[in-house]
Parts: sequence; structure tokens; C-alpha cells
Amino acid sequence: MCLFCKIINKEIPSNVILEDEDFLAFHDVNPKAPVHILAIPKIHVDSFNEVSGELMGKMSSFIKKVAQEVKIDKSGYRVITNIGENGGQEVQHLHFHILGGAKLSWGHFSDADPKGHF
Ligand code: 5GP
Ligand code: ZN
Repeated sequence: MCLFCKIINKEIPSNVILEDEDFLAFHDVNPKAPVHILAIPKIHVDSFNEVSGELMGKMSSFIKKVAQEVKIDKSGYRVITNIGENGGQEVQHLHFHILGGAKLSWGHFSDADPKGHF
């Protein structure tokens, strides 16, 4: 069973912010912003590459509820999902980082030449 499935099953403790039938939101153990929450589906999905449109629609509503719950919806926030090796995905269970609570910087994301791929 993957790490986040264990968190869903409460085998690993987490600091839960919001939970419903389909999703769970909890604080990231290693926050990269004053507010850093992870939102995950309760069914195991490897990554954004595998998520259905139907689940993604519900997930979007849940993410917005989380932002309202921690009162960053008006001040603004960032939603990120890392996909695969180049995306920097470390946990192979779909998750959305919800970051806020301060003005977030928008820097470069890699040392590679940004014009190099195409
Ligand atoms: P990724 O790099 O896969 O996009 O993000 C994984 C995130 O999960 C990281 O930000 C990391 O800090 C967080 N994380 C890893 N293990 C745990 C854990 O056991 N509990 C919590 N709350 N967060 C975790
Ligand atoms: Zn899982």
C-alpha cells in the first residue's frame, strides 16, 4: 500500500484539514510556504496522467473548499501537481499541493535551457 493510502487509512497520522467521502486534505510534513496542504483522492490514482475527468471535476471543487476553509481563497494561492520523474513526483499517489499564506515567488524551475525542448 502506498504512503498516502496509509494516511487515508489512518495507519500513518496526518494533520487533517478537510475530509469528505472522496477526498482528504492534510498539512504537508515539510511545508514550502506558510500554508502548504496536500489534497488527495481516497481511491488510489498514480498521477494526473491517470485521473478521469469526472474525478478531476470533483477534485477541483474540493480544492476550492480547502482554500476557503483555511482562508486563502481571497488572498490567493497556487495549486501544483507534480507528474513523473521530470515533474519531481516523489509519492506515486495523485496529490495537489495547495500553497499560500504569503506572496509566492515565481522563479525558474530547472537549470536546463528553457528553449531547449522543442
Ligand atoms: P511530490 O514531491 O510527490 O509532489 O510531493 C510529496 C509531498 O509529500 C512532499 O511535499 C512531502 O513533504 C510530502 N510528504 C511526504 N511524506 C509525508 C508524510 O508522511 N506526511 C505528510 N503530511 N506529508 C508527506
Ligand atoms: Zn495510494
